[in-house]
Amino acid sequence: MSALKLVFLGAPGAGKGTQAKILSEKLGLVHISSGDLFRQAAESGTELGQLAKSYMEKGLLVPDEVTIKLILERISSLSPGQGFILDGFPRTKPQAEALEKEVEIDKAVYLKVPKDELIRRLSSRWICRNCQTPYNLLSHPPKVAGRCDLCGGELYQREDDKEETVRKRIEVYLEQTAPLLDFYARKGKLLEVDGGKGAEEVAVDLLQALQKL
Ligand code: AMP
Repeated sequence: MSALKLVFLGAPGAGKGTQAKILSEKLGLVHISSGDLFRQAAESGTELGQLAKSYMEKGLLVPDEVTIKLILERISSLSPGQGFILDGFPRTKPQAEALEKEVEIDKAVYLKVPKDELIRRLSSRWICRNCQTPYNLLSHPPKVAGRCDLCGGELYQREDDKEETVRKRIEVYLEQTAPLLDFYARKGKLLEVDGGKGAEEVAVDLLQALQKL
């Protein structure tokens, strides 16, 4: 399955990053997270990073032109036949159309999670500054407080996980990204998974669903 080309859809807090990490390791896929790429650029203070930061901190989407270029360049840098998971891209119709022109996606995985659960998850989410592994202080705390189990890196709370920004991000998701569910459903590519369960259970369901393809 190392040649699978997947898109992960779902609201902020649906578990896209967590599931993409588990699945990419299990299936030998490259995990491409637009949010991680923007956060890394913001940390290094590049021109792209400064631009991305000005949108991210307001809970808004980075303009399509910039985002499409970043992700398509990342995809074209992969070796031929290498499968991947796009986590957080596409998030708008123009992004989905630009992607479609470049590569044929096998499935768009939709992690479905109720809104109350999204807000609960995001407000207790902490991330490793070094390897980006997400933790949840309530349901998946690190073994040592404030430190990543995998690499020992420092954990931090994302600026845009504060409540007001979270509400804005969910609003933006409903307006601009949710229509992509229909976009992929019409092409017969949508694979809906119940993302409201624990991370490990979701990963098992997801693997089973993909093995049936
Ligand atoms: P995420 O880590 O996926 O929640 O993304 C964090 C932030 O990065 C988003 O709130 C946007 O500001 C920006 N971002 C990530 N992916 C995209 C995308 N595909 N299009 C536009 N902005 C994005």
